[in-house]
Amino acid sequence: MRSTPVQNDEEARLQALAEHEILDAEPDPSLAHIVELAARLLGAPAAFVSFVDRDRQVFHAKVGLSLCETDRDVAFCARTIAQADILVVLDASQDPRFRDNPLVTGAPFIRFYAGVPLRTGDGHAIGTLCLAGPKPRRSFTGRDRRILVDLARLVLDRLELRRVEAARRATQLRFEHIAETSSDAIICADELGRVSFWSAAAERLFGHTALEALGQSIAILVPDRMCGGHEGELRRIAHGTATGLIGRTVELIGRQKDGSEFPVELSLSSWIENGHAAFGVIVRDVSQRHVFEERMFRLAHLDPLTELPNRAVLRGRIGAAILEDRPATVLMLDLDGFKEVNDAHGHAVGDVVLQLAATRLRTCIDTMGVVARYGGDEFAAVLPGVGNPVVATATGQAVIEALAEPYHVDDLVVRLGVSVGIALSPAHGQREDELLACADAALYRAKVDGRGRVCLFTPNLREVAQRERTCRDGLRSAIENGEFVLHYQPQVDLSDGALVGAEALIRWQHPELGLLMPAAFLEVLDNGPDAARVGDWVLRTACVQAQAWRQSGLHPFRIGVNLCAAQFRDGDLVERVAAVLAETGLPPDNLELEITETIILRHDPRLVATLQALRTLGVGIAFDDYGTGYASLSLLKRFPLTRLKIDRSFVSGLCTDRRDAAVVRAVINLSRNFGLEVIAEGVETEEQRQRLLSKGCPEAQGYLFGRPLPAAEFAARFQGREQHTRQPSTAA
Ligand code: C2E
Ligand code: CA
Ligand code: CA
Repeated sequence: MRSTPVQNDEEARLQALAEHEILDAEPDPSLAHIVELAARLLGAPAAFVSFVDRDRQVFHAKVGLSLCETDRDVAFCARTIAQADILVVLDASQDPRFRDNPLVTGAPFIRFYAGVPLRTGDGHAIGTLCLAGPKPRRSFTGRDRRILVDLARLVLDRLELRRVEAARRATQLRFEHIAETSSDAIICADELGRVSFWSAAAERLFGHTALEALGQSIAILVPDRMCGGHEGELRRIAHGTATGLIGRTVELIGRQKDGSEFPVELSLSSWIENGHAAFGVIVRDVSQRHVFEERMFRLAHLDPLTELPNRAVLRGRIGAAILEDRPATVLMLDLDGFKEVNDAHGHAVGDVVLQLAATRLRTCIDTMGVVARYGGDEFAAVLPGVGNPVVATATGQAVIEALAEPYHVDDLVVRLGVSVGIALSPAHGQREDELLACADAALYRAKVDGRGRVCLFTPNLREVAQRERTCRDGLRSAIENGEFVLHYQPQVDLSDGALVGAEALIRWQHPELGLLMPAAFLEVLDNGPDAARVGDWVLRTACVQAQAWRQSGLHPFRIGVNLCAAQFRDGDLVERVAAVLAETGLPPDNLELEITETIILRHDPRLVATLQALRTLGVGIAFDDYGTGYASLSLLKRFPLTRLKIDRSFVSGLCTDRRDAAVVRAVINLSRNFGLEVIAEGVETEEQRQRLLSKGCPEAQGYLFGRPLPAAEFAARFQGREQHTRQPSTAA
């Protein structure tokens, strides 16, 4: 138990005491002086300043006393600080509060005591100024009290000076500590703009050591060449001119010792120090932040692969065009055949192709608007100010042409198409999502109509688009409901136009959407669970049809059937083909199976054996779309093929593009060298027919000779032209 009182403000009081940094300090000479004065003026043998710490009192300046400190419990002063004014004890041995106090009963045998609390400006009594003596006194007059109180005031004034000084030292220390550990450069300058403080970070950032920088003009922070802007403002400090930078954080260019420049963020403050202006500069290197901000911007706005704006940006642009009350065109673009490129050559090649396509798109759209990557192999563009459907369609057509050019990736040559859907604002919609949906519906139509085309939105398409999902879902039941049909496209002898074959091509007679082309559903089908089943159905139906035609007296011709990858995966393709031939009675050499590179490149080790077995059956094997991929020559040797089908894209460029003509010539030569037959696909003009003939291509198919037709129409067309059909010429 403490026998002396403790104040309510004890913690704050101790804090105030600590702020003076005096407890264990050397005696303050001016305090010693006051203490001496007190002893002399008031005739006391001992006088001292006592500070009351938590558990002790510490004598600071003292005369006539050898003790340095005592326990707080025994301190007279501990009682003094608890009261408002002076405590006077004339004879301690007579005072019940003190007579048993060891300071009274033992050395220094105190009998007389007078103490004045030392109360700081905040009202905390941190200690006392007091007198003591071994003899009792008869009186301590009012005048004596006043003198002691006045002297205590002097002590307090001196203490306050100490406190301010300590605080300043602490602030300086704190500042230097912060300045040295801060990653921001901290620099101070005097009123003439001369560097007076240069932190470690400043050394790092600017390359000047503190030694080099101190005393130099603050203008060393910025490039010499920059006199205007914030840089110029900073220089004005050095000229003693007021600057508008004070109190602001600005970005400007910093200069390093070696002259290199970098972006910095600078805050300038100023204050008065010893009657003169002083400046503080905090400088932060923001190059990383710039890089980061740029990266964030790119992430938020650009597609990382193609660096085209992303979907969000596109939407924003469409929205802006609508707000401006100007017409606008929205184009939706979907690459045709991209999936095959990915499948056949891998994603790395696919990525490069996407980047190339994006570059072409950007060139096409150029300043007319913005083109964005919409996702996967989908792109979209907005042309603000374009409301004319003719201009819009022409732009779409230009895009198709630009993207149709072959893509060279390393040694590969890849070909792609693109389908384009167009919607116009305000005619088709006045909201961005509405316009995008319309363009999407038009795109879907373009694909259904056979890809590689532009389709302008018409209101009936809206419904069609809504049913696209239904279409996907409907695929499953299409077989059961007998909704698939085969159309047959004639293949002719180029020299006399005689029918030599027919390619079976699948269509989906959709109950709501009408007749759908393979482009509209084949991808979904191929990737779905029914691909092999549908493939089987095609094979059987085509063979049944071919045999029916034979039996109806039509002159025999071969039937071409496209195979899909799934049919090879199941492993019993040979048995199925054999079974179908046996069931229908169709001679094997009347059947020609068409395979594509997509199938070959799946690298199924059983593939060659399967094809070999089919060849053994007597069935022909045609390599479809030849030339579009990168099927190597060794592949031609390894696979037991009987025919190459020159892809439509080369035939269409045959008369206009020397490279296409070269490919056609090369494929014809190849087939000759490998003992293969050859047929050209997609012949649409007489000129193409002539060219092919002159290059030695014996057969062809294409719109020039006939579009794919339903079986009945096909038969009707060729029934009357018996003389023009000839025996199948599949290689044995
Ligand atoms: P493909 O095997 O290259 O078939 C030729 C495609 O070119 C057909 O398109 C045909 O209509 C079209 N075509 C023919 N002549 C011309 C012409 O002169 N000009 C133009 N512009 N096009 C012409 P279709 O019927 O849309 O078939 C597209 C593709 O779908 C086919 O390309 C084939 O890869 C696939 N496919 C079609 N039917 C089947 C099938 O039953 N099974 C499988 N697995 N795939 C099929
Ligand atoms: Ca084909
Ligand atoms: Ca083809």
